[in-house]
Amino acid sequence: MAGSHEIAIVGESWGEREEIERAPFVGPSGYLLTRMLDEAGIRRADCFLTNVFNLRPEGNKIETLCDSKSEAIKGFPSLGKGKYVHGRYISELERLQSELVEYNPNLIIALGNTPTWALLGRTGISSIRGTTALSTHTVTGFKVLPTYHPAAVLRQWELRPTVVMDFIKAKREATFPEVRRLERTIWIEPKIEDLYEFKQRYINGCGRCAVDIETAGNQITCIGFAPSPRTALVVPFVDGRRIGKNYWGNGENERKAWNFVRDILSDKKIHKTFQNGLYDIAFIWRAVGMKVYGTEHDTMLLHHALQPEALKSLGYLGSVYTDEGNWKQMRRVATIKRDD
Ligand code: URA
Repeated sequence: MAGSHEIAIVGESWGEREEIERAPFVGPSGYLLTRMLDEAGIRRADCFLTNVFNLRPEGNKIETLCDSKSEAIKGFPSLGKGKYVHGRYISELERLQSELVEYNPNLIIALGNTPTWALLGRTGISSIRGTTALSTHTVTGFKVLPTYHPAAVLRQWELRPTVVMDFIKAKREATFPEVRRLERTIWIEPKIEDLYEFKQRYINGCGRCAVDIETAGNQITCIGFAPSPRTALVVPFVDGRRIGKNYWGNGENERKAWNFVRDILSDKKIHKTFQNGLYDIAFIWRAVGMKVYGTEHDTMLLHHALQPEALKSLGYLGSVYTDEGNWKQMRRVATIKRDD
């Protein structure tokens, strides 16, 4: 069972200093790692540190451990295009496995592509980072949080705030071993009666509501309302299944849907939170001539005040402030399935 210690940190392989001292993260990457952990309130001395490969690849290039698929460790994808880790390194994964099983952490922080490959069987760190998942490779059932490797931060300094924020998340996640996701109910593809029912059940008297619009060209394609973290409604205006077609079918229903939207947007007592609301509010005014009242917060601006150097998209904010999976990727998968 996972859970007797809090954090294990897994890197890629030794560098020059590590090879001399035969210890992980004792060179420049390790120095930066310690500083970033510290900023997130994690004491390095309280963590178990190790690497996927306790060796120094030639020229510090991990590809030198790779070969063609026929020579690969079975069950693992390629680490880079056409580059499979050679079977002779399976003993390194076995060593990693026994270290992690023995240490038994609540959370494993995977630093960069190589440990993410070793523990989740996946690569593409920039889209995987920030989301917890249970390990499927090398060891199973341990919670893993991938983030960028400190060596990548040394090359691209703008990644630094993201790693610190991922470590802040790691500190939270390290207090329990399971992957927790908030259960949410999202009403999609509503009928007019559903709009009224949703309003009666969740919006009337809600006090605060998050609002977001999606646009295409100069048209609003849908508007989302979330009166609580667990409940949301999407009001579509374009039919996602029949591109270019009006969702509501006839003018009468479309008018009712817009009136529903107007009632909420114009209600000063419903305090609204937008993401980059200056864009949304101006767009709503231009596209349908509605004024928005009761605006209170803007997640993009609040985040900018906290982390001026970091990225600002909603997907990015979700990755650092919530425990949600990467929903932008989920949508892509769902679309592909549906089109199939
Ligand atoms: N980079 C790693 O991945 N591990 C180390 O131990 C040092 C640098």
